[in-house]
Amino acid sequence: MAAVEYRDMIIVMQRNASHQHVENVVSHVHELGYRAHVSAGEETVIIGVIGHSRPDQLQSLSDLPGVDHLLPVTKPYKLASRDFSPLNSLIQVEDVTFGSDEVIVMAGPCAVEDERQLWETAAAMKEEGVRILRGGAFKPRSSPYSFQGLGVRGLEMLDQVRREMGMLVVSEVLSEDQVEMVCRHVDILQIGTRNMQNFALLQAAGRSGHPVLLKRGMSATLEEFLQAAEYILANHNPNVLLCERGIRTFETATRNTLDISAVPVLKTLTHLPVVVDPSQATGRWSFVGPVARAAVAAGADGLLIEVHPRPTEALSDGAQSLKPARFQELMIELRAIATAIGRHIAPACESVSSASA
Ligand code: PEP
Ligand code: MN
Repeated sequence: MAAVEYRDMIIVMQRNASHQHVENVVSHVHELGYRAHVSAGEETVIIGVIGHSRPDQLQSLSDLPGVDHLLPVTKPYKLASRDFSPLNSLIQVEDVTFGSDEVIVMAGPCAVEDERQLWETAAAMKEEGVRILRGGAFKPRSSPYSFQGLGVRGLEMLDQVRREMGMLVVSEVLSEDQVEMVCRHVDILQIGTRNMQNFALLQAAGRSGHPVLLKRGMSATLEEFLQAAEYILANHNPNVLLCERGIRTFETATRNTLDISAVPVLKTLTHLPVVVDPSQATGRWSFVGPVARAAVAAGADGLLIEVHPRPTEALSDGAQSLKPARFQELMIELRAIATAIGRHIAPACESVSSASA
């Protein structure tokens, strides 16, 4: 017996298709046992068929009123693809929206180290208009002898900062069994480069429904990156931010090589917001500013930047951490670049009551 062929399919509606036409197609898709993902593009409505569809079963749909044509999905990811959702996804994290004209800057220490370091950095970041504080509580280090992070205590410190300072926080989750606990303390789960293909973790992060900042694996192609994002989306979590953080190349002058073209390429392939991490990309604070400026110019929807009040004392990634004063200068430059391309970055606060621990 010949094997049944399964293809992912998109139903493209006619330009003048009515709401009733769309509803009718959706109910036929459901009757055939598939889920439907309706996406209104600028000119046409597109209905993605979810489930391993058999083209012979779906063929009948092409005769329904309002249907223009059926399109097989040729990419190995579908929910992440622009074919499925032509318009930019707006990812809402409390009052912050990723994917709009605003470029969102997330900043803070590589790792949460102690109360003084965290509160000092948080206060300085808040003053610069940063609404999302970064800080690793669980650190995936190359060496088992390096500082591994404060763990749960670090998360509790972040949680306290977010409540008392009115900031949002992003922090890394290392394993599937930590997802629920990390979700209770942070607003965005970070999945690091070393875990980009930890499928159990991606699925658990998907099931959590929590916003996820997914970093590109250091040797991953963009297609592999988008398939990793698909694991989260396929688990009913649409809140995915992609983060380009540099890839492994033959070059050793920088820690990684920032793939700047990943920004426009991803923006073409997917509707998901694209964030750039110039800190892990370069490994040196003096290169962070130029590369961050390039990322905004290239169309990044956000940045993730490491800042430490005393980089020489940092327990991780001090060499690539900006001091708050340099970060302030960079924000001024970034705002000017954002404005030049029709976007904007939140202004610095006029006065902030610096809360203390
Ligand atoms: C980090 O953000 O500090 C980090 C460990 O990132 P990456 O997973 O990109 O190396
Ligand atoms: Mn780091």
